[in-house]
Amino acid sequence: MQWLKKRMRLLLALVEALTGEAETVSYPKTELELPKGYRGAIQLDEEKCIGCGLCVMDCPAHGLELEKESKSVYKLTYYPARCAYCGQCERACHRQAITHTNQLPGSTTDPESIIVILKDQKEQEDSDE
Ligand code: SF4
Ligand code: SF4
Repeated sequence: MQWLKKRMRLLLALVEALTGEAETVSYPKTELELPKGYRGAIQLDEEKCIGCGLCVMDCPAHGLELEKESKSVYKLTYYPARCAYCGQCERACHRQAITHTNQLPGSTTDPESIIVILKDQKEQEDSDE
């Protein structure tokens, strides 16, 4: 009798799994809805950033790079393929300029293609000349 109960439970679970709502999505073909507060790709509020480099120094994965020409002329680059989504840069920034979004950069076989220039004053200065 016990074996019959077990089989019935198994059968019920099987029917539930086949008829219920899907627990997974076919990412990246289907858009992945991540909860608010999820540590996804980072974004920068350019107005708040002063190019101090604290986020770069604190990043354990070399996910950020700061190229500085002078105190106010710099370029801040984000490398999502290296990023560990740890939140350390967000914590390190005393200006609250850097924050996580709840989006992922998308999967790729070409890490170079998803590099993000967060702020580039070097280019801005060159175009002003
Ligand atoms: S994001 Fe914040 S910590 Fe990073 S360079 Fe800008 S101001 Fe400094
Ligand atoms: S989330 Fe972590 S690994 Fe990614 S850039 Fe920030 S400090 Fe680096």
